Amino acid sequence: MSDARHHVIIGSGVAGNQAAETLRARDPDSRITMVTVSRLPFFNRYDLPRVFRGERDWRRFVIYPAEYYRRNRIALRRATKVVAVDSINQTLTLQHKETIHFDTLLVASGARSYLPEELSEYRPLLLGFGAFHEAVQVAETLPKRGHVIMLGGDTIGLDLARTLIELRHRVTLLADDYTFWPHEVSEADRPRYIAALRNMGFEVIEAKERGSLAAVSQGAPGLPARRLVFKDGSELHGDVVMPFFGNVPILDFMIGSGVDIERGLLVRPDLRTTHENIYAAGDNCQIWTDSVRRYCFYHGWKNVRAMGELAARNITGANEAWTPQHDESLRLTADGKILSPFWEYQ
Ligand SMILES: Cc1cc2nc3c(=O)[nH]c(=O)nc-3n(C[C@H](O)[C@H](O)[C@H](O)COP(=O)(O)OP(=O)(O)OC[C@H]3O[C@@H](n4cnc5c(N)ncnc54)[C@H](O)[C@@H]3O)c2cc1C
Repeated sequence: MSDARHHVIIGSGVAGNQAAETLRARDPDSRITMVTVSRLPFFNRYDLPRVFRGERDWRRFVIYPAEYYRRNRIALRRATKVVAVDSINQTLTLQHKETIHFDTLLVASGARSYLPEELSEYRPLLLGFGAFHEAVQVAETLPKRGHVIMLGGDTIGLDLARTLIELRHRVTLLADDYTFWPHEVSEADRPRYIAALRNMGFEVIEAKERGSLAAVSQGAPGLPARRLVFKDGSELHGDVVMPFFGNVPILDFMIGSGVDIERGLLVRPDLRTTHENIYAAGDNCQIWTDSVRRYCFYHGWKNVRAMGELAARNITGANEAWTPQHDESLRLTADGKILSPFWEYQ
């Protein structure tokens, strides 16, 4: 390996940080630059439900202090957005027009929460849960024993709901095809899993039984802050409405880069994209999986971290193939609750 190699990582999440750690260990003399649009340092999203238990200081969620990056000679550039990647010249362009040259690039830009188009006009009336400040906003908006209406119900939402129910809030889930995402639950199994949610304290409404959602509006004076109207004319009132419809890879800056994209960046089993020096890891990539003959997403903390490590190993000379870190099936426990492997992290 050349001492002068410049490894650039886009993203400072689970995949990006694991990759940086592995790159530093295996290529001690290299330059490592990590670029992230986030203002906060790498923090633990999986623990965000703690905000509802009263923990509002973001510093308590931070995983690595600034000193960690200095000690490991990782140039961490926060609040810095990548807007384009040029695979021919091996450069990336930042929003403020600076250009950075890379010898190897790891794209670990993650994914953002998805909102179906038909709900986009109601966005100002919905509260998200993707960022620290959003979690704080929900916690501050929700009254004591307040009522949260969850739309969709992916595993991130269901995880949050477990905490809310434990804290004696009321949670109504408007269940649809996104419920349990990214798990795939068959039509035959669905009633058992929905029953398990009810057993866990959720109130569940199957959206299609009400002819689906027709409108979201502000509640009338004296009523809860939000009002949902269904196509069958029925209504539901709650304090907060939160969408949980899975996520979509963040790859705007890769459009026009010359690297193949389907929904995610397409990578070979060694996590290399269609460009020799560009790799991808985490929520933004689809890995070629020979057993099913297609490109697949792999989710969960263990998988995302392992992808960061594998990409870094292969960037530094290994030639190893991806193997999933766990069984992705949604489980039912003996006491009739659901248990997702995506809720496990260290
Ligand atoms: C609130 C919350 C709770 C979650 N809970 C769970 C859970 O319990 N279990 C589970 O399995 N998963 C959970 N997830 C999903 C989990 O966070 C992701 O699977 C994981 O973080 C993906 O890691 P990643 O490294 O691929 O991307 P991320 O951790 O999302 O990191 C992406 C990085 O890329 C940066 N970035 C993006 N675009 C640009 C750009 N243009 N320029 C520069 N930087 C950019 C971002 O700033 C960020 O630093 C949760 C997610 C959220 C939001």
